[in-house]
Amino acid sequence: MFINFAHIPRQDGLLSWLVTREEGAQLSLWVDASDIAIGGTLSQLSQGKWEPIAFFSMKLNKSQQKWSTYDRELFLIYSAIKKFKHMLEGREFQIYTDQKPLIYAFKQNPDKCSPRQLRHLDFISQYSTDIRHVQGSQNIVADALSRIEVDSITKSPILNFKEFARAQKDDSDIQKFLHNDASSLQLELKPCQTSNCNLLCDTSTGVPRPFVPTSFRKLIFDHLHNLAHPGIAASTKLISARYVWPGMKYQIKQWVRCCESCQRSKIQRHTKTPLGTFSLPDARFTHIHIDIVGPLPPSEGQIYLLTIIDRFSRWPEAISIPDMRA
Ligand SMILES: [Zn+2]
Repeated sequence: MFINFAHIPRQDGLLSWLVTREEGAQLSLWVDASDIAIGGTLSQLSQGKWEPIAFFSMKLNKSQQKWSTYDRELFLIYSAIKKFKHMLEGREFQIYTDQKPLIYAFKQNPDKCSPRQLRHLDFISQYSTDIRHVQGSQNIVADALSRIEVDSITKSPILNFKEFARAQKDDSDIQKFLHNDASSLQLELKPCQTSNCNLLCDTSTGVPRPFVPTSFRKLIFDHLHNLAHPGIAASTKLISARYVWPGMKYQIKQWVRCCESCQRSKIQRHTKTPLGTFSLPDARFTHIHIDIVGPLPPSEGQIYLLTIIDRFSRWPEAISIPDMRA
């Protein structure tokens, strides 16, 4: 079983899911490795059902791709725990995998393990040793990860693809692109699985991306951006992996900047107050600084210094005083 991870947004390898986390809910980690990528889902038990709350996916490098399935899966559990460490620390949770040999990972003779396996096992064991087997088809990693695709493209309740197709026919932008040979887009009609209609899609990236007519652009943006309110780069990636329209990068940037929820919750949007400035005095003694320094070691019963500096001439005066009272 393999999930196409290439379509999953990968900002920091982690995508926050739209489900709200329930405090104290039972947690589990579901993992799946393919030859070239690994992925996992952190789920919570909610009303008797495992509900994904966070995703993790990662592409394997050339040498990792040569590892055995067992090693890849072990590395995956290690990486997923590392990613979700802040949520798993001090919690009891199970790890579900469709690789049966892994459930004996902690029971085998350590002498037979490679140093890398030992390192990964050691780290994993600090969090959980409860690894369970699950049939590939029941692995909700695949389920959950592919659900994004289904939701965003075909089964969205807010998107009526019949109307989408109709709007495509009337859109002047699209007509322009259809008759422009210089464009890098390869437009083709592709059948939409759920709506029994054909959508004009760009196929230049290998994944058919519906060409979005003007009237649907904001709707698509809202639908995908509101999942987890990612930043400009991640939103652009999320949307452009699934849809295409001319000038989308610029438009997405503007919309993310204007998103009220983002502005309200993201700390990097704090405005900085500039330092206060005083206008310069133009005569002596029009502006003086007064300060009290101390307590200092007593000298003739005096422990404080009243300092006065004239801002214009920088003339200092220091007067010893016995206390800070006025
Ligand atoms: Zn937002």
